[in-house]
Amino acid sequence: MFSMLIDGRLTETDARLKVINPSDETVAAEVSDADRTIVDSAVQAAKQAYASWRNTAVDERQALLRKLSAVLQENADELAELLVREQGRPLPLAHFEVGLAQRYLDFYAEQSLDVEILVDDTNSRVELHRKSLGVVAAISPWNAPLYLSLSKVAPALLAGNSVVLKPPQTSPLAVLRFGELVKDIVPAGLLNIICGGNDAGAAMVDHPDVAKVSFTGSTETGKVIMREASSSLKRLTLELGGNDAAIVLPDVDPKAIAPALFGTAFFNSGQVCAIIKRLYVHDDIYDAVCEELAALANGAAVGDDAQSQFGPIQNKAQLDKVLGYLDEAHRSGRVIAGGKRIERPGYFVQLTVVRDIEDGTPLVDEEPFGPILPVVRFSSIDDVVAKANASTLGLGASVWSKDLVVASDIASRIDSGTVWINQHCALDPAIPFPTRKQSGIGVESGREGLLEYTAVQVVNINKASAV
Ligand code: NAD
Repeated sequence: MFSMLIDGRLTETDARLKVINPSDETVAAEVSDADRTIVDSAVQAAKQAYASWRNTAVDERQALLRKLSAVLQENADELAELLVREQGRPLPLAHFEVGLAQRYLDFYAEQSLDVEILVDDTNSRVELHRKSLGVVAAISPWNAPLYLSLSKVAPALLAGNSVVLKPPQTSPLAVLRFGELVKDIVPAGLLNIICGGNDAGAAMVDHPDVAKVSFTGSTETGKVIMREASSSLKRLTLELGGNDAAIVLPDVDPKAIAPALFGTAFFNSGQVCAIIKRLYVHDDIYDAVCEELAALANGAAVGDDAQSQFGPIQNKAQLDKVLGYLDEAHRSGRVIAGGKRIERPGYFVQLTVVRDIEDGTPLVDEEPFGPILPVVRFSSIDDVVAKANASTLGLGASVWSKDLVVASDIASRIDSGTVWINQHCALDPAIPFPTRKQSGIGVESGREGLLEYTAVQVVNINKASAV
């Protein structure tokens, strides 16, 4: 169980990594720890498979994605259980992740890359082709490993590339199991799934036969990858950290709006790149919104039983980071809900709301990636827009108001890849998810996300000279 898939064969290394169940700190499984030699064998298999896959017709590629989607559907229960085991997330949320991964396969199974005719007259014909790139190294983080892995695999394969995929070392189980399930469906070497730590990721990034790196993870690692990938000028898509601001205008009803703000700030216990991480609330309704959020946080069920709505922090290193931010919260603001680690086995932290806190504190300026929400008071629109834009990150943002014209105007002034209005983190495979500033480079999802896995080739024909 949980073997790697390389060149159509299931394989393991002698070196082992322990996967810890964050709900009880027991060992959930032991998995392979790939070294440079293993990475090289996966890349070589992918290179070989690419030689024929690049020439396949798009309907063959679409058919493969449909088969992969069917595997997810047929094995949704098992894969969701594995996500619970390795991430601690509640089962409905695990099913949501499997479903989202499947929707990515389904969306890209409907796409194609037709030739565009730019000029066609008596003298010339100019065609724009979208060519595949080669071997894609796909590297994903621990917070949503199955969805974030398959949202790369689907467009990469549809565009005619082959893939070496590395799921995160602290939650690789569902992705590895998926590899076992598709072993006889995917042509040998086309999709290779390795398992290993950061060194395995680094070996993928500096491998000379990798044409593109598609990475989702921290901004810090993204910068290292950009540097390392420069050795052979690899193509890059980097989906990195976010510190999304949400701006709540005074015309909203605090009671009506609080559940949506709460739901998107604490989704997956705060371990999502594009959820509300800084909440700016207008002075007129500040106290009322804080009160509603605190009540929701205090009433939330955090744990690992069937009633639980929120799970633990996924790994110990992240828990320590979050506990540091909790300490800081008590110093730089007023904690009105939560504020502590939960006394029980596992990496559980209370859902925490912090008011009377300002920009310039680590909790507001940085990305805790845990269940801690700072709520900042504002009274001037110009001032709050400036604060939203002051971050070095620019993934998402949102504006909440009954007046869509005013909200849209504010949205247009915010420097982020996405601005949602009266919602946040509404992700969809058909809708591009762009990055700005140090939140990354490029776009995932949608048609634009597919084009990231292609190179433009222009064929420029001089008709007049044809004999
Ligand atoms: P991370 O950067 O530590 O690790 C992500 C992956 O990169 C892992 O598989 C890891 O093994 C690998 N890796 C580490 N060092 C590497 C190197 N030098 N070369 C190649 N690969 C390497 O990130 P994480 O802690 O797992 O994830 C949390 C971060 O991810 C947060 O900052 C979050 O905002 C971000 N994230 C972003 C998005 C997005 O779409 N923008 C989505 C989810 C998470």
